[in-house]
Formats: sequence, structure tokens, C-alpha cells
Amino acid sequence: MASELIDISLPVSSASVVWPSAPKPQVTRRLSMDRGDAVNDSDLFMNVHTGTHIDAPVHHLNRKGGADSVPLEAMIGEAWVIDVSKFKSVDVEALERAWPARPVSRVLLKTRNSELWDRGHAEFVTDYAALTENTGEWLIARGIRLVGIDYLSIQRFSDPPTIHRVLLAAGVVVLEGLNLSDVAPGRYELFCLPLKLVDADGAPARAALRRLS
Ligand SMILES: [Zn+2]
Repeated sequence: MASELIDISLPVSSASVVWPSAPKPQVTRRLSMDRGDAVNDSDLFMNVHTGTHIDAPVHHLNRKGGADSVPLEAMIGEAWVIDVSKFKSVDVEALERAWPARPVSRVLLKTRNSELWDRGHAEFVTDYAALTENTGEWLIARGIRLVGIDYLSIQRFSDPPTIHRVLLAAGVVVLEGLNLSDVAPGRYELFCLPLKLVDADGAPARAALRRLS
């Protein structure tokens, strides 16, 4: 029997932790059966970088591709979860230590951030673990198509956006806002399907893993 799917997505609600400059998501019941309407029907208002989401190239590279241009092939398939939870700054040395001996085209970084989701933290923190500025070239040299992380950015809070720019310019999909607290390091199949938002700089996604042997 195929092993079970592990949901690595963050829940989206008015309680979601969001980037300091972003609004909280709002789901507003416009039609309500409790109020006598024939159906329940809601409107959704949210920043495109809310919860589990991809960054599109146009997020950091003006006039480049939107979320609808990101190929599905990059977001579905074999992925490695690597444990870098000892590091607040995930630098080349940390990646080298945790890197699998086999070829890797998609990598999900399990850091200490996943403990925050596990504990149900309610407020954005600025000292989350993330990639250092100079790791982009190292990842690209290894043929990476997707990099995921378990907080709302792959980039450290006070860093310039170098890591985003380098990865997005190389066509690497940046997947942010994962919860990897229930996931052991190892080899998985990743299913990540972001909304097909035309020309958008990001898109919310559902993401799940299935263990591979
Ligand atoms: Zn983002």
C-alpha cells in the first residue's frame, strides 16, 4: 500500500501569521443560510504570500513571469527533506553537511522554524531560520529546481533580497510557509499546486509529501 500523504501546508484563516506589512486573510460570508440566504457563499481577501505559497519570478524581478508561468513539473515529484535545524543561518556549510549523497532536484529545508508552527505561535518572528545570501549559486550548481522552507521567507529578515533574486532568475521555484514538524528527513514525493493567479508575484498553495523508500 502506498504510504500516506503528509499535509505540510499552513492553515489559512484570520489567525494566520503574516508578514509584518501584509494584511491578515479575511473570509467573509456574503450569503448566509443562517440569515435566510439559499446558500453559504464567501469572499476571500488575502495577500498572495499568505501561508504556504510560491514566489513567482516577478516578485523580485520586475516584468518577469507570474505565478501562472511557473511550471507544474518543478513542483511535483521527488523531493528531499533535509534537517538543518541546528542552524539559524543556513549557509553553504550547513547545506553541505545535510545534503543527501544522491541527486537532488527539489529540497525542503527543515529548520527550527517548524517548532514554531508545532507550538501554534501567533505572532510573526523576525529571527526565523533562513538561507544566507550566498547559497543561491551553490544550490543552482546542484541542479535544484525547487527550494522550500518552513517559514514565510527563504531569506533572513534583515538581508537584501539576493537569495530570492538569484534563485528566481535561474528559474528555481521558491516555496515558503511549509510546516515540516511531522516530517522526518529523507526522500519524498512532493505535491505542490499553487493557484493559477495570472501575472501574480506569488500564489497560495496546498503542499503534501508522500514518503519514498
Ligand atoms: Zn513569498
